[in-house]
Amino acid sequence: MAVLPTNFQFSQASLQDYVDCPRRFQLRYVLQLAWPAQEVEPALENEQHLRQGAAFHRLVHRHALGIPAEDLSRTVQEPDLRRWWHNYLERGPRDLPETRYPEVILSAPLADYRLVARYDLVAVDAGKRAVIVDWKTSRKRTKREILAERLQTKVYPYLLVCAGAHLGGGRAIAPEQVEMTYWFADYPEEPARFGYDTAQYEADGAYLTSLVEEIAGLGDEDFPLTTQDQRCKFCPYRSLCQRGVRAGTWDEALDAAYQALEDEADADDAFGIDIDFEQIAEVEY
Ligand code: SF4
Repeated sequence: MAVLPTNFQFSQASLQDYVDCPRRFQLRYVLQLAWPAQEVEPALENEQHLRQGAAFHRLVHRHALGIPAEDLSRTVQEPDLRRWWHNYLERGPRDLPETRYPEVILSAPLADYRLVARYDLVAVDAGKRAVIVDWKTSRKRTKREILAERLQTKVYPYLLVCAGAHLGGGRAIAPEQVEMTYWFADYPEEPARFGYDTAQYEADGAYLTSLVEEIAGLGDEDFPLTTQDQRCKFCPYRSLCQRGVRAGTWDEALDAAYQALEDEADADDAFGIDIDFEQIAEVEY
């Protein structure tokens, strides 16, 4: 049996890692190995992008807490950040309910473990609507069909229904009240919106439970390396897996992701590449 760390909590990020590559899940969460290599080249540009992504999340968080936009704007210097901030102020998500919960953390039991998620924003009109907003600072807009399959799109609405009653005025939030919006800082007019319903909630619950039970039942030798070699180029563990030394570049990563889609090849190829950028941003924040 896999020996998960004591009190291990599953998240959309760890579950996505498992789905993308069981070995990566084992290295990162079971063996808890530090990331030995950078994911993409050039490192400096990558780091800068991630840092600005984290700064954008902090800005929006402070704005949601009530700090005036003018005060926050004075702190924004870097070009990417200025553009994202401007887009957010001028063309941010519309029609959000007034009651806002930024950076809220929810958790609930799942199989013998807990599932946890940190939301960028949950906006609630109690008894009517609950809108999950996720800020994305990725360089290209992730396609809807990719987002639809992401663990994040399953975990966030599912957990809000399971564990979000205190955000809904003390009443459980019904699946039909939940919406999820990915808002792209560089594509402010092209958010991706997903509805939710009871059938999807039940399907997500069954899928997430089976995934956690599957992982918990694995032995030390049961975490195979992904067969999708192209993912390894952007994985920090590639030297441990003898899957190459040089990191892929941003352009290679994005080209590979979008070529896979255009070819109607396995869209999963794109997921692995995209998630790493976003997950690092989450970790950094
Ligand atoms: S290098 Fe490849 S096989 Fe190894 S953990 Fe990363 S994605 Fe998996």
